[in-house]
Amino acid sequence: MKTIILGGGVIGVTTAYYLAKLGVEVTVIDRQADVGEETSFANAGQISPGYSTPWAAPGIPTKAAKWLFQKHAPFAISPDGTAWQGIWASKMFANCNAHDYAINKERMMRVAEYSRDCLQQLRSDTNINYEHRTKGTLQLFRKQAQLDVVGRDIEVLKECGVDYELISRDELDKVEPALIHAKDKLVGGLRLPNDETGDCNLFTKNLAKLATDLGVNFVFNKTIDNIHHNGNQIVGVMIDGEMMIADHYVLALGSYSRNLAKQLGLDLPIYPVKGYSLTVPILDEKNAPVSTVLDETYKVAITRFDNRIRIGGMAELSGFNLTLNPKRRATLEMVTNDLFTGGDLPNAKFWTGLRPMTPDGTPIIGGTRFGNLFINTGHGTLGWTMACGSGKLIADIITRQTPDISLDGLSLARYH
Ligand SMILES: Cc1cc2nc3c(=O)[nH]c(=O)nc-3n(C[C@H](O)[C@H](O)[C@H](O)COP(=O)(O)OP(=O)(O)OC[C@H]3O[C@@H](n4cnc5c(N)ncnc54)[C@H](O)[C@@H]3O)c2cc1C
Repeated sequence: MKTIILGGGVIGVTTAYYLAKLGVEVTVIDRQADVGEETSFANAGQISPGYSTPWAAPGIPTKAAKWLFQKHAPFAISPDGTAWQGIWASKMFANCNAHDYAINKERMMRVAEYSRDCLQQLRSDTNINYEHRTKGTLQLFRKQAQLDVVGRDIEVLKECGVDYELISRDELDKVEPALIHAKDKLVGGLRLPNDETGDCNLFTKNLAKLATDLGVNFVFNKTIDNIHHNGNQIVGVMIDGEMMIADHYVLALGSYSRNLAKQLGLDLPIYPVKGYSLTVPILDEKNAPVSTVLDETYKVAITRFDNRIRIGGMAELSGFNLTLNPKRRATLEMVTNDLFTGGDLPNAKFWTGLRPMTPDGTPIIGGTRFGNLFINTGHGTLGWTMACGSGKLIADIITRQTPDISLDGLSLARYH
């Protein structure tokens, strides 16, 4: 049985690995010269089932309106010249109610928790290196008002069985010693000890090597132009003018999945939500974080790798625009300097990527009306967190194994 995977980001590569483990002959196609060169390149490094929460939450439309006028805001919109931008935003806002939020959160947590278990298993099976740490995440609050409403989040964590610790201002430096210098700006924190961290790009590249050892064929520098079908079957994909044929096809093109699926009459409600990161060499270990810290005020995540800190954040609705906006860099630098002074900011690498976001926050994992076309995309803010679980689920679906978790509400069918 042959499978072609369209896209070699973290989602395509995990899918390839799990399919190859099940004995499938796999080819991965990507337009870049290596795997993980687009959105999976420099994300914030959090593997955070505990924070697997849809952006579409009650109260977000009001907050978003305020953010539009705020300096160092986590959210911005600039017209991209398409009707889809407004349609997608209204679909997202339509999910901002307690009922839909609960449904979406359960789906996301189901995939994310399963994914963490798959990653732990993969780590113990292969000893893969990705500068991982298993020291949890710490959400930091700067205002009493943030701490006053944390009870709501704790209720959700309890319902989902997620371990947590409420940390007082005086205890913050016991978890993150470098915060001793920033304590007077903070009122406390919420720690999820079972969350993990690691470099998604390093993971994707090292997993691709393991997949190659299992026989996976990677085809680089090739652009997928379109997908051909005959009735309800895919008959091939056109790649730089050449047709490639397999028994099964997996669409894992991240933010670019929507346009290709459209040619087949499939409506994938995905918008490219732009984010930014800075990767900073560590100069002074004592003043660097030990794990991930999330600044709730600016919605910025700061993650420790071996000798680097990765700072990620921002959500811009501005289409397929990869311009590096210096104002966003200023925000990331401001938050980093305010909390951790141990980084070499002038030598930081600034990066931007497009999160493939669905309006309900849940990825699209499953089959389509084409019997041999499967979708694994739309992971938005949490593609690294959900990658292994999503790859394993698609591999099980294609090879007709019984998946380890329920697939309820994960496929494209939920939108119809
Ligand atoms: C700033 C930022 C911070 C983030 N932080 C986190 C985090 O801390 N934790 C977390 O879990 N997630 C995080 N994410 C989200 C995560 O990075 C994404 O969800 C994930 O990388 C998506 O992976 P993907 O494989 O679907 O997409 P991609 O990595 O973009 O892969 C798609 C691939 O398809 C290829 N491709 C596209 N079109 C074509 C074509 N026509 N022909 C050939 N190839 C094509 C591309 O080259 C690319 O390699 C963050 C994202 C951003 C932007």
